[in-house]
Amino acid sequence: QQEHLRKPEWLKIKLNTNKEYTGLKKMMREKRLHTVCEEAKCPNIHECWASRKTATFMILGDVCTRGCRFCAVKTGMPTELDWQEPERVAESVELMGLRHVVVTAVARDDLKDGGAAVFAETIRAIRRRVPFCTVEVLPSDMKGDYESLHTLMDAKPDIFNHNIETVRRLTKRVRARATYDRSLQLLKRVKEISPNTPTKSSIMVGLGEEKEEIIQAMDDLLAHDVDIMTIGQYLQPTKKHLEVVRYYHPDEFAELKEIALEKGFRHCEAGPLVRSSYHADEQVNEAARK
Ligand code: SF4
Ligand code: SF4
Repeated sequence: QQEHLRKPEWLKIKLNTNKEYTGLKKMMREKRLHTVCEEAKCPNIHECWASRKTATFMILGDVCTRGCRFCAVKTGMPTELDWQEPERVAESVELMGLRHVVVTAVARDDLKDGGAAVFAETIRAIRRRVPFCTVEVLPSDMKGDYESLHTLMDAKPDIFNHNIETVRRLTKRVRARATYDRSLQLLKRVKEISPNTPTKSSIMVGLGEEKEEIIQAMDDLLAHDVDIMTIGQYLQPTKKHLEVVRYYHPDEFAELKEIALEKGFRHCEAGPLVRSSYHADEQVNEAARK
Protein backbone atom coordinates (compact mmCIF):
# COMPACT_ATOMS: atom_id res chain seq x y z
CA GLN A 1 0.00 0.00 0.00
CA GLN A 2 1.13 3.52 -0.69
CA GLU A 3 2.61 5.47 2.17
CA HIS A 4 -0.15 8.04 2.34
CA LEU A 5 -2.75 5.32 2.53
CA ARG A 6 -1.56 3.87 5.80
CA LYS A 7 -4.45 3.49 8.17
CA PRO A 8 -4.72 6.71 10.14
CA GLU A 9 -4.57 6.74 13.92
CA TRP A 10 -8.28 7.30 14.41
CA LEU A 11 -9.04 3.97 12.77
CA LYS A 12 -6.64 1.94 14.87
CA ILE A 13 -8.76 0.72 17.71
CA LYS A 14 -8.54 -2.46 19.66
CA LEU A 15 -11.46 -4.83 19.71
CA ASN A 16 -12.76 -5.13 23.20
CA THR A 17 -13.42 -8.79 23.86
CA ASN A 18 -14.61 -9.38 27.37
CA LYS A 19 -16.37 -12.37 28.87
CA GLU A 20 -19.88 -11.19 28.16
CA TYR A 21 -19.02 -10.75 24.51
CA THR A 22 -17.51 -14.22 24.26
CA GLY A 23 -20.67 -15.68 25.76
CA LEU A 24 -22.84 -13.90 23.23
CA LYS A 25 -20.70 -15.12 20.38
CA LYS A 26 -21.13 -18.66 21.61
CA MET A 27 -24.88 -18.22 21.71
CA MET A 28 -24.87 -17.00 18.10
CA ARG A 29 -23.09 -20.20 16.98
CA GLU A 30 -25.44 -22.40 18.97
CA LYS A 31 -28.44 -20.76 17.41
CA ARG A 32 -26.82 -20.78 13.97
CA LEU A 33 -27.27 -17.04 13.67
CA HIS A 34 -25.15 -14.52 11.84
CA THR A 35 -24.57 -10.95 12.88
CA VAL A 36 -23.05 -8.27 10.73
CA CYS A 37 -21.39 -7.04 13.90
CA GLU A 38 -19.20 -10.15 13.95
CA GLU A 39 -18.88 -10.94 10.25
CA ALA A 40 -17.82 -7.42 9.33
CA LYS A 41 -15.57 -7.35 12.44
CA CYS A 42 -17.31 -4.12 13.31
CA PRO A 43 -15.22 -1.99 15.62
CA ASN A 44 -18.30 -0.82 17.51
CA ILE A 45 -19.36 -4.26 18.69
CA HIS A 46 -18.67 -3.74 22.35
CA GLU A 47 -20.41 -0.39 22.50
CA CYS A 48 -23.42 -1.71 20.57
CA TRP A 49 -23.92 -5.11 22.23
CA ALA A 50 -23.02 -4.24 25.77
CA SER A 51 -23.91 -0.58 26.29
CA ARG A 52 -26.39 0.39 23.64
CA LYS A 53 -28.14 -2.95 23.52
CA THR A 54 -28.35 -3.08 19.79
CA ALA A 55 -27.14 -5.57 17.19
CA THR A 56 -27.49 -6.29 13.49
CA PHE A 57 -28.68 -9.75 12.50
CA MET A 58 -28.18 -11.08 9.02
CA ILE A 59 -30.99 -13.43 8.02
CA LEU A 60 -31.75 -15.66 5.02
CA GLY A 61 -28.47 -17.51 5.46
CA ASP A 62 -24.91 -16.33 5.05
CA VAL A 63 -24.40 -16.80 1.33
CA CYS A 64 -25.37 -13.96 -1.01
CA THR A 65 -26.45 -14.20 -4.64
CA ARG A 66 -24.66 -10.94 -5.39
CA GLY A 67 -21.01 -10.08 -4.98
CA CYS A 68 -20.59 -6.40 -4.24
CA ARG A 69 -16.94 -5.46 -4.36
CA PHE A 70 -16.81 -3.87 -0.94
CA CYS A 71 -18.60 -6.60 0.96
CA ALA A 72 -17.08 -9.53 2.84
CA VAL A 73 -20.18 -11.76 2.75
CA LYS A 74 -19.72 -15.06 0.88
CA THR A 75 -21.16 -15.27 -2.63
CA GLY A 76 -22.65 -18.37 -4.18
CA MET A 77 -25.71 -20.61 -4.20
CA PRO A 78 -27.63 -19.88 -1.00
CA THR A 79 -28.95 -22.49 1.33
CA GLU A 80 -32.62 -23.47 1.63
CA LEU A 81 -34.88 -21.05 3.44
CA ASP A 82 -35.00 -21.68 7.16
CA TRP A 83 -38.42 -20.85 8.59
CA GLN A 84 -37.16 -21.38 12.13
CA GLU A 85 -34.69 -18.55 11.74
CA PRO A 86 -37.17 -15.76 12.68
CA GLU A 87 -37.89 -17.41 16.02
CA ARG A 88 -34.19 -17.97 16.77
CA VAL A 89 -33.46 -14.32 16.02
CA ALA A 90 -36.29 -13.27 18.34
CA GLU A 91 -35.00 -15.55 21.11
CA SER A 92 -31.55 -14.03 20.82
CA VAL A 93 -32.96 -10.51 20.89
CA GLU A 94 -34.68 -11.45 24.10
CA LEU A 95 -31.64 -13.14 25.64
CA MET A 96 -29.35 -10.26 24.74
CA GLY A 97 -31.85 -7.79 26.19
CA LEU A 98 -31.74 -5.69 23.05
CA ARG A 99 -33.66 -2.45 22.81
CA HIS A 100 -33.08 -1.85 19.11
CA VAL A 101 -32.39 -4.48 16.51
CA VAL A 102 -31.41 -4.16 12.89
CA VAL A 103 -32.47 -7.01 10.64
CA THR A 104 -30.57 -7.21 7.41
CA ALA A 105 -30.10 -10.03 4.92
CA VAL A 106 -28.04 -11.29 2.07
CA ALA A 107 -29.61 -10.57 -1.32
CA ARG A 108 -31.70 -13.60 -2.29
CA ASP A 109 -32.25 -13.04 -5.99
CA ASP A 110 -32.99 -16.78 -6.26
CA LEU A 111 -36.29 -16.31 -4.39
CA LYS A 112 -39.37 -14.83 -5.99
CA ASP A 113 -40.04 -12.51 -3.05
CA GLY A 114 -36.36 -11.90 -2.32
CA GLY A 115 -36.95 -13.27 1.19
CA ALA A 116 -39.56 -10.64 2.14
CA ALA A 117 -41.84 -13.16 3.86
CA VAL A 118 -39.05 -14.30 6.19
CA PHE A 119 -38.19 -10.69 6.88
CA ALA A 120 -41.79 -9.99 7.85
CA GLU A 121 -41.96 -13.08 10.03
CA THR A 122 -38.74 -12.06 11.78
CA ILE A 123 -40.21 -8.64 12.64
CA ARG A 124 -43.37 -10.30 13.98
CA ALA A 125 -41.46 -12.86 15.99
CA ILE A 126 -39.37 -10.12 17.65
CA ARG A 127 -42.51 -8.10 18.41
CA ARG A 128 -44.16 -11.12 20.04
CA ARG A 129 -41.21 -11.80 22.34
CA VAL A 130 -39.83 -8.34 23.00
CA PRO A 131 -42.59 -5.81 22.32
CA PHE A 132 -40.54 -2.80 23.48
CA CYS A 133 -37.64 -3.50 21.13
CA THR A 134 -37.63 -1.32 18.03
CA VAL A 135 -36.96 -3.06 14.74
CA GLU A 136 -35.11 -1.57 11.83
CA VAL A 137 -34.93 -3.44 8.54
CA LEU A 138 -32.12 -3.19 6.04
CA PRO A 139 -33.16 -5.30 3.05
CA SER A 140 -31.69 -5.57 -0.45
CA ASP A 141 -33.54 -3.80 -3.24
CA MET A 142 -35.63 -6.98 -3.70
CA LYS A 143 -35.01 -6.53 -7.41
CA GLY A 144 -37.34 -3.54 -7.27
CA ASP A 145 -40.34 -5.80 -6.77
CA TYR A 146 -42.98 -3.76 -4.96
CA GLU A 147 -45.14 -6.75 -4.10
CA SER A 148 -42.25 -8.07 -2.01
CA LEU A 149 -41.84 -4.64 -0.48
CA HIS A 150 -45.50 -4.67 0.57
CA THR A 151 -45.05 -8.09 2.17
CA LEU A 152 -42.25 -6.68 4.27
CA MET A 153 -43.98 -3.39 5.08
CA ASP A 154 -47.10 -5.22 6.27
CA ALA A 155 -45.07 -6.21 9.35
CA LYS A 156 -44.53 -2.52 10.15
CA PRO A 157 -40.83 -2.03 10.81
CA ASP A 158 -39.90 1.01 12.93
CA ILE A 159 -37.26 2.17 10.45
CA PHE A 160 -36.77 1.21 6.82
CA ASN A 161 -33.12 1.35 5.85
CA HIS A 162 -31.73 0.68 2.41
CA ASN A 163 -28.26 1.74 1.42
CA ILE A 164 -27.25 3.39 -1.81
CA GLU A 165 -23.69 2.66 -0.54
CA THR A 166 -21.90 5.07 -2.88
CA VAL A 167 -22.42 7.97 -5.27
CA ARG A 168 -24.12 7.50 -8.63
CA ARG A 169 -20.94 7.32 -10.73
CA LEU A 170 -19.34 4.55 -8.69
CA THR A 171 -22.42 2.37 -8.20
CA LYS A 172 -21.63 0.06 -11.09
CA ARG A 173 -18.14 -0.54 -9.78
CA VAL A 174 -19.09 -0.98 -6.17
CA ARG A 175 -22.32 -2.97 -6.45
CA ALA A 176 -22.71 -4.14 -9.99
CA ARG A 177 -26.01 -5.96 -9.56
CA ALA A 178 -27.84 -2.95 -8.15
CA THR A 179 -28.66 0.43 -9.58
CA TYR A 180 -28.62 3.83 -7.94
CA ASP A 181 -32.07 4.73 -9.22
CA ARG A 182 -33.69 1.45 -8.24
CA SER A 183 -32.51 1.97 -4.69
CA LEU A 184 -33.78 5.54 -4.60
CA GLN A 185 -37.14 4.49 -5.96
CA LEU A 186 -37.46 1.73 -3.39
CA LEU A 187 -36.94 4.28 -0.60
CA LYS A 188 -39.51 6.60 -2.12
CA ARG A 189 -42.00 3.77 -2.44
CA VAL A 190 -41.70 2.98 1.26
CA LYS A 191 -42.79 6.52 2.07
CA GLU A 192 -45.77 6.15 -0.24
CA ILE A 193 -46.81 2.93 1.46
CA SER A 194 -46.18 4.18 4.98
CA PRO A 195 -45.60 7.95 5.24
CA ASN A 196 -44.79 7.79 8.97
CA THR A 197 -42.06 5.18 8.75
CA PRO A 198 -38.66 6.88 8.89
CA THR A 199 -36.43 5.94 5.95
CA LYS A 200 -32.68 5.85 6.04
CA SER A 201 -29.74 5.31 3.73
CA SER A 202 -25.96 5.13 3.97
CA ILE A 203 -22.94 5.80 1.89
CA MET A 204 -19.33 4.79 2.39
CA VAL A 205 -16.68 7.33 1.49
CA GLY A 206 -13.11 6.67 0.43
CA LEU A 207 -13.95 4.83 -2.79
CA GLY A 208 -12.89 7.67 -5.10
CA GLU A 209 -15.96 9.90 -4.98
CA GLU A 210 -15.73 13.70 -5.16
CA LYS A 211 -17.27 15.95 -2.55
CA GLU A 212 -19.76 17.34 -5.08
CA GLU A 213 -20.91 13.81 -5.78
CA ILE A 214 -21.56 13.19 -2.09
CA ILE A 215 -23.59 16.37 -1.95
CA GLN A 216 -25.51 15.27 -5.03
CA ALA A 217 -26.24 11.96 -3.29
CA MET A 218 -27.65 13.91 -0.35
CA ASP A 219 -29.91 15.88 -2.70
CA ASP A 220 -31.00 12.68 -4.43
CA LEU A 221 -31.89 11.02 -1.13
CA LEU A 222 -33.83 14.07 0.03
CA ALA A 223 -35.67 14.20 -3.29
CA HIS A 224 -36.81 10.66 -2.49
CA ASP A 225 -38.00 11.67 0.98
CA VAL A 226 -35.25 9.92 2.93
CA ASP A 227 -35.14 11.11 6.56
CA ILE A 228 -31.85 9.78 7.93
CA MET A 229 -28.43 9.54 6.34
CA THR A 230 -25.28 7.88 7.61
CA ILE A 231 -21.79 8.36 6.19
CA GLY A 232 -18.82 6.19 7.14
CA GLN A 233 -15.31 5.37 6.00
CA TYR A 234 -14.96 2.45 3.57
CA LEU A 235 -12.46 -0.12 4.85
CA GLN A 236 -11.16 -2.86 2.59
CA PRO A 237 -12.20 -6.19 4.13
CA THR A 238 -9.61 -8.29 2.23
CA LYS A 239 -7.03 -7.70 -0.48
CA LYS A 240 -9.51 -9.01 -3.06
CA HIS A 241 -11.90 -6.16 -2.38
CA LEU A 242 -11.82 -2.63 -3.73
CA GLU A 243 -8.92 -0.59 -2.45
CA VAL A 244 -9.41 2.40 -0.22
CA VAL A 245 -8.71 5.49 -2.31
CA ARG A 246 -8.73 7.94 0.58
CA TYR A 247 -9.19 8.09 4.34
CA TYR A 248 -11.33 11.03 5.38
CA HIS A 249 -10.37 13.02 8.42
CA PRO A 250 -12.89 13.21 11.29
CA ASP A 251 -13.23 16.96 10.58
CA GLU A 252 -14.34 16.19 7.04
CA PHE A 253 -17.01 13.87 8.40
CA ALA A 254 -18.15 16.61 10.75
CA GLU A 255 -18.46 18.96 7.80
CA LEU A 256 -20.46 16.42 5.79
CA LYS A 257 -22.79 15.92 8.72
CA GLU A 258 -23.34 19.65 8.99
CA ILE A 259 -24.13 19.90 5.28
CA ALA A 260 -26.57 16.99 5.53
CA LEU A 261 -28.41 18.55 8.44
CA GLU A 262 -28.53 21.95 6.78
CA LYS A 263 -29.98 20.37 3.69
CA GLY A 264 -32.81 18.92 5.70
CA PHE A 265 -32.09 15.38 6.91
CA ARG A 266 -33.76 14.77 10.25
CA HIS A 267 -30.72 12.94 11.50
CA CYS A 268 -27.24 12.26 10.21
CA GLU A 269 -24.39 10.21 11.63
CA ALA A 270 -21.05 10.74 9.94
CA GLY A 271 -17.65 9.56 11.13
CA PRO A 272 -14.79 7.19 10.38
CA LEU A 273 -16.37 4.29 12.27
CA VAL A 274 -19.98 5.05 11.48
CA ARG A 275 -21.80 2.05 10.07
CA SER A 276 -25.29 1.87 8.70
CA SER A 277 -26.55 0.63 12.05
CA TYR A 278 -24.41 2.82 14.29
CA HIS A 279 -26.40 4.72 16.94
CA ALA A 280 -29.55 3.50 15.28
CA ASP A 281 -31.29 3.39 18.66
CA GLU A 282 -31.08 7.20 18.87
CA GLN A 283 -32.40 7.69 15.41
CA VAL A 284 -35.59 5.83 16.00
CA ASN A 285 -36.41 7.94 19.04
CA GLU A 286 -35.50 11.14 17.33
CA ALA A 287 -37.50 10.33 14.24
CA ALA A 288 -40.51 9.47 16.37
CA ARG A 289 -40.37 12.80 18.16
CA LYS A 290 -40.51 14.82 14.95
FE1 SF4 B 1 -23.29 -4.22 14.88
FE2 SF4 B 1 -23.94 -2.01 13.53
FE3 SF4 B 1 -23.14 -1.85 16.04
FE4 SF4 B 1 -21.41 -2.47 14.17
S1 SF4 B 1 -22.48 -0.51 14.36
S2 SF4 B 1 -21.62 -3.51 16.14
S3 SF4 B 1 -22.67 -3.72 12.80
S4 SF4 B 1 -25.00 -2.85 15.31
FE1 SF4 C 1 -22.92 -7.92 0.50
FE2 SF4 C 1 -25.47 -7.08 0.42
FE3 SF4 C 1 -23.92 -6.92 -1.77
FE4 SF4 C 1 -24.76 -9.27 -0.85
S1 SF4 C 1 -26.04 -7.62 -1.67
S2 SF4 C 1 -22.69 -8.81 -1.55
S3 SF4 C 1 -24.71 -8.97 1.35
S4 SF4 C 1 -23.65 -5.80 0.16
